[in-house]
Amino acid sequence: MAAAQRVVIENGAIATVDADDTEFAHGHVVIAGNRIEAVGAGRAPEGLENVVRRIDATGHLVTPGLVNTHHHFYQWITRGLATDHNLFDWLVALYPTWARIDEPMVDAAARGSLAMMARGGVTTAMDHHYVFPRGSGDLSGTIIRAARETGVRFTLARGSMDRSEKDGGLPPDFAVETLEGALAATEATVAAHHDASFGAMTQVAVAPCSPFSVSTELLREGARLARRLGVRLHTHGSETVEEEKFCHELFGMGPTDYFESTGWLGDDVWMAHCVHMNDSDIAAFARTRTGVAHCPSSNARLAAGIARVPDLLAAGVPVGLGVDGTASNESGELHTELRNALLVNRLGAHRERALTARQALRLGTYGGAQVLGRAAEIGSLEPGKLADLVLWRMDTLAHASIADPVAALVLGAAAPVTASFVDGRQIVEDGRLTQVDEGAVARATRDQARRLASVTARG
Ligand SMILES: [Zn+2]
Repeated sequence: MAAAQRVVIENGAIATVDADDTEFAHGHVVIAGNRIEAVGAGRAPEGLENVVRRIDATGHLVTPGLVNTHHHFYQWITRGLATDHNLFDWLVALYPTWARIDEPMVDAAARGSLAMMARGGVTTAMDHHYVFPRGSGDLSGTIIRAARETGVRFTLARGSMDRSEKDGGLPPDFAVETLEGALAATEATVAAHHDASFGAMTQVAVAPCSPFSVSTELLREGARLARRLGVRLHTHGSETVEEEKFCHELFGMGPTDYFESTGWLGDDVWMAHCVHMNDSDIAAFARTRTGVAHCPSSNARLAAGIARVPDLLAAGVPVGLGVDGTASNESGELHTELRNALLVNRLGAHRERALTARQALRLGTYGGAQVLGRAAEIGSLEPGKLADLVLWRMDTLAHASIADPVAALVLGAAAPVTASFVDGRQIVEDGRLTQVDEGAVARATRDQARRLASVTARG
């Protein structure tokens, strides 16, 4: 086998996000093949062979690539609708539109979502897709292909809904699958696409949508299926006061107790939102090492509330960041969520001590890797890990007068990405995607958004 080709990055500030938060004001990173070979202070070691490229990172901050832990790609073509609603009213307003999606729409929406995140420093993405209209084609395969062609590492959370209005749920009857159909399709998706190996570019998780759109049987059987197949479990939990009320009325307990009773707490589970959690809920998550995808912008957009991130972290709960679907976070960027996580949490009980800039960066990198079960592979810059990293430009008008580059990244304007690497391959160069035509993606998303609007209007 040929020796691995090396890329040397020098002269930049480096935030490794390792266990000690090691940083270098002027340092180097050496990539060999798809792995990080060396990280340290000063210039790279002399005499390295097979160096195919040297990048002068003067004026830049180098960090691990960002990891997005919660999203719904299809919503890219339903942005800017139901803009003044809470979660339940917003869902009821949008379900009839969402139920009309097809393969070309999902393809364009996935490519738009992925492109927006990738050019903003996301190197690992996920899509919780739970709308599968009858006859809509191979939506899972379409989404996975879009991720592969954009060049990001990817987890498809194969979602499902089987509790419609007639069973006391929120979605209309025409928007759901059957219990058996959802389980069979989820198992087939894992069989076709899940890669369990170190460095996998595609993984699949079992992901029934939420307590108010999924039957108790689907939660129970979904958990059994995931454990039989050895894949992770994902869902929405404790998002709003209305959900809490729903769980008390239907199940006689709060969401966390309900999840525990259906097998949904564990170190192989991560849950989006987790806003309305009491001390015993947080203790249950900590005891079972259940992960949380914190989505501060979406929680604010839908008036859901402020998740208790400082308390979750203090208890030892793994916490990552999520964009959430872009129908409730129209920007679709994760680097801006670093800032929003810090700001929103400082509005909560812990005030100025809620989160530091470095904790916010950790949530968006290592924390995300933890909740996706991939902390041994990604999330920090350490020798042996996969070469997923970002060069943020810090010497322009937006950031040049801020001395601390991590404070500049988290608190300042959205920083330009000079280069982003996934698995050692460069997917962003000077702010432009290298693998896809951003203009063509934008045109396709506009065309498919118009198509969906007109299909929905025809009824
Ligand atoms: Zn969501």
